[in-house]
Amino acid sequence: MTATIKINLSNIKKNWLYLNKLSKRSTETSAVIKANAYGLGAHEIASALWEVGSRSFFVATIEEAIHINKILPMSRKIYILNGYDIKYKKAFNELDLIPVINSPKQLTSFIEGNKNRSLCIQIDIGMNRLGFQLGQIHKYKNAFKNLNLDLVLGHLTTAKNPKNRFNKIQLNKFREAIINFPVTKKSLAASHGIFINDNYHFDLTRPGIALFGGIRNPNILDVVNIELPVLQTHFLKPGEGVGYGLTYVCKEKKKVATLAGGYADGLTRNFSNIGFLYHNKIPCPILGKISMDLVTVDISHLNQEPTKLTFVGQNQSINDLSDIAKTISHEILINFGNRFSRQYVN
Ligand SMILES: *Cc1c(COP(=O)(O)O)cnc(C)c1O
Repeated sequence: MTATIKINLSNIKKNWLYLNKLSKRSTETSAVIKANAYGLGAHEIASALWEVGSRSFFVATIEEAIHINKILPMSRKIYILNGYDIKYKKAFNELDLIPVINSPKQLTSFIEGNKNRSLCIQIDIGMNRLGFQLGQIHKYKNAFKNLNLDLVLGHLTTAKNPKNRFNKIQLNKFREAIINFPVTKKSLAASHGIFINDNYHFDLTRPGIALFGGIRNPNILDVVNIELPVLQTHFLKPGEGVGYGLTYVCKEKKKVATLAGGYADGLTRNFSNIGFLYHNKIPCPILGKISMDLVTVDISHLNQEPTKLTFVGQNQSINDLSDIAKTISHEILINFGNRFSRQYVN
């Protein structure tokens, strides 16, 4: 018996349409579907988003681009965030992929390999992760002039908190840098950036996690539902423990259920002894350490024997789980279900 992950394609489409509506008509809304669309399936999601009007897609690597290329019409644009690698010169050319050039080194290599094709430039506006420094932009200005620049990109580091004053600092830094690219399209905002305000939208927005329900907003719909099958139930006597290290010991008689799903499936060990599974609306506390393939919960208070319990659903979203595990919804989502059976619902 394996768990099922249901992925609601229709809600992903609605989320994209909502995000698209938040910005001006002249601002394009792309879709970031790196890491197999945050683990949910890049093929299915790229096709669904193409249907509602997304024409540009961002992935991290060339392999991911080759993967989604198969199901998208040739008029799509695919950007590769990690940049250019001359080893893949042929694929870049043949599939017309657009590398995000992040450094002088990548630029040199791009000019050597594909100089007549489109490229995107990323400017580092304070995250110190990828991109040209402002000084380097001036230095390579002439080189850029002879190239087919499709897009100039910046990335925000504090957008999750719209009030953080660093957002404005980054916005100003971006504005200063793009003076050098008067005719090229610009993009600054990922999911959280879209919600700061429309000063951050520019010509193209790049939502990822918001498409998949990973931000708290009344208009963003949940996308994922996960149910785990019950493998076994039994009673514990007072003083008996559960799981590795017996980190939970019961004080009174309890009925417990063990379900097929563990940290290999994205139920991170951080949920041990603090997380919940749900029987309809009734929370069932996780008891003891979560194992690789199994989790044990308290079902003493249920008046019927469940055949399955819900891990992600109406009563517990990926945002709730990210709070419990003290991480972000991106990481919760990406860890789900390599061995779950997948169901796409429309
Ligand atoms: C991952 C990524 C995005 C999408 O971010 P979300 O927070 O998932 O919306 C956008 N731009 C860049 C450069 C990224 O690396």
